[in-house]
Amino acid sequence: MLDLRERLTAKIGGPVAEAHEPATVAELVALLDRLRSAGRAFKILAGGSNIVAGDAPQQDAIVSLRGLRRFEMLSEFLWRAEAGVPLGEMVARSARRGLTGLECCHGVPGSLGAAVRINAGGKWGTIAGVLREVTLLTPGGEVVRRSVAPGDCVYRKTAWWNDLVLEATLEFAPSDSATTKAKIDAVHEHKKTTQPLAFPSAGCIFRNPSAERPAGRLIDQAGLKGTRVGGALVSPLHANYIVNVGGATGGDFLALMVLVQARVREFHGIELEHEVEVWN
Ligand SMILES: Cc1cc2nc3c(=O)[nH]c(=O)nc-3n(C[C@H](O)[C@H](O)[C@H](O)COP(=O)(O)OP(=O)(O)OC[C@H]3O[C@@H](n4cnc5c(N)ncnc54)[C@H](O)[C@@H]3O)c2cc1C
Repeated sequence: MLDLRERLTAKIGGPVAEAHEPATVAELVALLDRLRSAGRAFKILAGGSNIVAGDAPQQDAIVSLRGLRRFEMLSEFLWRAEAGVPLGEMVARSARRGLTGLECCHGVPGSLGAAVRINAGGKWGTIAGVLREVTLLTPGGEVVRRSVAPGDCVYRKTAWWNDLVLEATLEFAPSDSATTKAKIDAVHEHKKTTQPLAFPSAGCIFRNPSAERPAGRLIDQAGLKGTRVGGALVSPLHANYIVNVGGATGGDFLALMVLVQARVREFHGIELEHEVEVWN
């Protein structure tokens, strides 16, 4: 039986009674069709780097996208890949070819599809900078390919939030390997010194209420760095990270998240919203 602890980067969560891992998009579409027709609820799992799950057995079927790895070069600069391709693989491959555009996503764990859903990135830019087309499975079961328009991608949100991303087409610009590598090194250096990468985590837990008031600063100002519940700790390095310092349960993470929200509400009068997906 699959255990979410083996699949979530925070190393938390419970057992999964029904798990599927289709090997092709056609298999995925047919599977979801069958689950829908049977009235069976399901959840999509990719790299598991943005999910906090409770410890109880998952009642929904879990559908992993790990098998969807097809990659195609439409031209030297225009690449299409399926949702399950690791984002890091796309970053490394484009850098090796001396292309630029995806350095902003260096160090973002997980899959291309989830990154396209949430418009992943950071202070150097987001994946929207290279995203040209998306192939989506709508909640009604229809497969559609659409161009990306200005305004489709905003801070950690996209126009296809409720769809399933099947594929993405990315367009790079020419550069040279040394320049691209230097940009990646700069991103790497920054992350290494500002993020608690030595411990399992789910990345930033809360959305930034605004660029001027990032969640990490609000949590820090509320005096919460180092606060611990069981094996879950508000990172002393970056307060918007909760890290698993050993044996944390999903319950520890969830309890600490509630505590952080309550203290920030009391201290700042601000309601922090989850950036991570909570599977409870
Ligand atoms: C150490 C660390 C550092 C991080 N740094 C960053 C960062 O710098 N910038 C950043 O943006 N994020 C960052 N993250 C968060 C996370 O890596 C991103 O959100 C990533 O895009 C999640 O990808 P995943 O494949 O792991 O998605 P998962 O965690 O598997 O899924 C996340 C959500 O997306 C849904 N989903 C997954 N695939 C698809 C799909 N194809 N279509 C539709 N929905 C889908 C899932 O159902 C779930 O709701 C970091 C996380 C960690 C652990």
